[in-house]
Amino acid sequence: MPLKALYSRLPSVDRLLAHTRLSQLLTDHGNAALTNAVRQTLDSARAYIREQQSLPDWASNDDSLVETICQRVAARQQMSLRPVFNLSGTVLHTNLGRAPQAETAITAVSTAMRGAVALEFDLAGGERGHRDNAISELLCELTGAEAACVVNNNAAAVLIMLSTLAAGREVVLSRGELVEIGGSFRMPDVMRQAGCRLVEVGATNRTHLRDYQQALNPNTGLLLKVHTSNYAIQGFTSSVSEAELVALAAEHGLPVASDLGSGALVDLSAYGLPCEPMPRQMIAAGVDAVCFSGDKLLGGPQAGLIIGKRQWIEQIQRHPLKRALRCDKMTLAALEATLRLYLQPDKLVDTLPSLRLLTRPQLAIQQCALRLQPALASKLGQSFEVKQEPCCSQIGSGSLPVDSLPSWALTIRPRTDSSLSIEQLAQQFRALPHPLIGRLKDGRLWLDLRCLEDEVGFLNNLAALTIHH
Ligand SMILES: *Cc1c(COP(=O)(O)O)cnc(C)c1O
Repeated sequence: MPLKALYSRLPSVDRLLAHTRLSQLLTDHGNAALTNAVRQTLDSARAYIREQQSLPDWASNDDSLVETICQRVAARQQMSLRPVFNLSGTVLHTNLGRAPQAETAITAVSTAMRGAVALEFDLAGGERGHRDNAISELLCELTGAEAACVVNNNAAAVLIMLSTLAAGREVVLSRGELVEIGGSFRMPDVMRQAGCRLVEVGATNRTHLRDYQQALNPNTGLLLKVHTSNYAIQGFTSSVSEAELVALAAEHGLPVASDLGSGALVDLSAYGLPCEPMPRQMIAAGVDAVCFSGDKLLGGPQAGLIIGKRQWIEQIQRHPLKRALRCDKMTLAALEATLRLYLQPDKLVDTLPSLRLLTRPQLAIQQCALRLQPALASKLGQSFEVKQEPCCSQIGSGSLPVDSLPSWALTIRPRTDSSLSIEQLAQQFRALPHPLIGRLKDGRLWLDLRCLEDEVGFLNNLAALTIHH
């Protein structure tokens, strides 16, 4: 059939808009959105005809075209930023949004979103206030620091801290701490961006106080410590503590800064978790400025927190970059609510979801696996073998890279006669209304149940799975 004849078999926009099935859509979505979807669908049909010299099945009659339009309208309403089941085995998964937020934080954010809030307004005096005030007071109480400041994330905190304390000067850093966090965030590059000159000292495995000492000269502006949060150097090693650096820096009138990365506000060993350096310890050691993340072990929203001596924090607050890096009311609301939970540390395992998940006992996770195994096995049928077995979860977000937490998983392996590969099954899990994210390892799909608290939701979601072989 000539192209022209094929094109002419497509209905007009108006004829489709008059279709009864579209009248409800018109009420729900409005004329502009619906007309757009109709046009785009007809455009796709014409493109198909142009490329294939035939009419696509879905455009062979008005009913199928209308079905395609309905799907297109529904897809446009579908959020990309969708909730997923994080069964990856990494609790603070950067690609899955890191820490789940506390209920009080969720409430605080929605309240702040809905209307006007006292963001930069001092309610007692009725005059202008500073947006970081509430957070600063809480952080000072929780860490013993003199002052604090909040920016968008810890990468921003490192940048503004270096720019303020040492732009145009040399920054001394151990070769063992030349961290790459991921993406393009590498210490040497951040230094350059902040206008500092990096001076590397020591060796990869060993750095001594005399290495720092020998690097000092009139151009030195700062001694920096960076927590090696995503790797560990083991064996014949040595490094210089913050306290020793503070003593050395004091002799030369220099500041010391520390990028902690994660930074736990409570002693994690009290919860049976591996130790992580605490901001409070850095302040006690006399470090001038310490930065850490809001959404790693702290369990709050994405933010970068800088605490330290008042003189330095005030300079950071006045730095022109601060305006570019400051947090909005939603972040500040979530952060304030999260920090308030730390004022009641006895309740933290219940109130702070990230800590609750990290401390979830292996036995409780195993019991969850036992409950869910039959339902999953029966849903997947004969083609897949579903087992429940022990596994290890990771904390994630570059926290505590070598330690892992004993957990329990449902594992899925295709039987030899299965027409579906494990990758294809994983893909179908990701296509569920509430996508399910597991981990592929050794030809099996591992669903680590540490972060699964909503078992009913999991089962309801599973009901929507129709296995396409
Ligand atoms: C994670 C990390 C950062 C970056 O923090 P974000 O919150 O991801 O911006 C910087 N430094 C260290 C040592 C880190 O571990």
